Amino acid sequence: MKIESSNDEGPPVSPGLTLKSLQKVVDCEEKLVQNLNQLLDQLKSISPKFSDLEQYPQMMGVLNQSMPIIYSIYDDFIKLKLTELQDPVLCKKTCSACCSHFVASVEPFELIFIDYQLKKTEGYSNLIYQLSLRHKQYSDLVYATEGYDEDKLLFEYYKKEIACPYLTAEQNCSIYEQRPMPCRMFFSLSNPNLCKGALTIHPDNKNFIIELSDETELVISQLSEWFGELELSNLFFIGMLKVNELFGSQA
Ligand code: SF4
Ligand code: SF4
Repeated sequence: MKIESSNDEGPPVSPGLTLKSLQKVVDCEEKLVQNLNQLLDQLKSISPKFSDLEQYPQMMGVLNQSMPIIYSIYDDFIKLKLTELQDPVLCKKTCSACCSHFVASVEPFELIFIDYQLKKTEGYSNLIYQLSLRHKQYSDLVYATEGYDEDKLLFEYYKKEIACPYLTAEQNCSIYEQRPMPCRMFFSLSNPNLCKGALTIHPDNKNFIIELSDETELVISQLSEWFGELELSNLFFIGMLKVNELFGSQA
């Protein structure tokens, strides 16, 4: 969800932070690393590398067991980090301008997990169709803006205010429990009106993301490497289409 106006240094933290509250954050992130490592070990025990569709049921067994726990710890971590801030976060339920991002940095294990949860639902084929429309809109933009780097392209897409296919008419995320990490880490300290399209570059916009430690990022990248040969895009909608192509018919 990173956009040009995101503050890379992060928002100011409260001056009254106690050692106890800081320790809670550290403990929570350690738990996250532990569970991510456990997932990696379990995947490696299936095979040193992902190479065979026959491994899909075993892989899903592992992911279905681990991912809800990992997301739950991750959410606890995010909540703790938010309590460290000096100013209040102004994000609210059904506040959804940020759901027009062409969401980026989604990991393979998230894409595969989300696809599995969705493919048994009634609207799955329509979702795939909606994803392919977003892919086309993004590809047209790539063509029309030759030479733009990815951040600039993502911002150009965002300015178009095309809602995410998983956003309902009531402005709720239809995959809230399974939504990927970039959607869980994005917030604002400023008026939600400033999250809309081109307004995000307004100097008063205070969008930010909650960063993970290098140790957590390392194990996430090792996990993603395990799925490397699938060559999944980390752009959410494009990655989901590829997962559908590879595993859509798998039960
Ligand atoms: S980031 Fe902005 S649009 Fe998204 S929930 Fe927060 S205030 Fe609302
Ligand atoms: S997956 Fe959900 S939270 Fe993420 S952009 Fe789409 S609707 Fe918003």
